[in-house]
Amino acid sequence: MSASENMLQTEEGRAGGMRAALDAARHGILAGQAPFGAAIFTEQGELIVAEHNQVRKMLDPTAHAEVFAIRLACRLIDRQTLTGCWLFTTCEPCPMCATAAVFAGLRHVVYGASVEDAQEAGFSELQLPSRQIFDRSSDEITVYPNVLRQECRALFNLP
Ligand SMILES: [Zn+2]
Repeated sequence: MSASENMLQTEEGRAGGMRAALDAARHGILAGQAPFGAAIFTEQGELIVAEHNQVRKMLDPTAHAEVFAIRLACRLIDRQTLTGCWLFTTCEPCPMCATAAVFAGLRHVVYGASVEDAQEAGFSELQLPSRQIFDRSSDEITVYPNVLRQECRALFNLP
């Protein structure tokens, strides 16, 4: 594979990216947080950050894993957007996180469990498929659903 090729363009590469988000979610569960993780990679496929949901710790209902990862990634690369970057998230983004991804300029969104899976696990505040937001973005956003879905569902203790 040449340097210009991005591992995340392959199924195996995307599974690897999801494992970073899964690891973050598992750390969050051990720390008593809700079972969600997210990771952001550069356009070239390098990991910038992996974070878990911190709502319970921060007493902040907006501290979803994706929002937290976006905030931190921008700080780490010292830019106000993440144009072209990849978002990996263990669960399909909620409307808030999907919108944040659009504002951040993310162009690739990879998720494991679906909003229906989250609903099955009792996380059912707002059931809107993320497609409904991504499809309205003026940027082309490629969505990869069901990546390591079984492992991501297991975070919710679902079979
Ligand atoms: Zn969210």
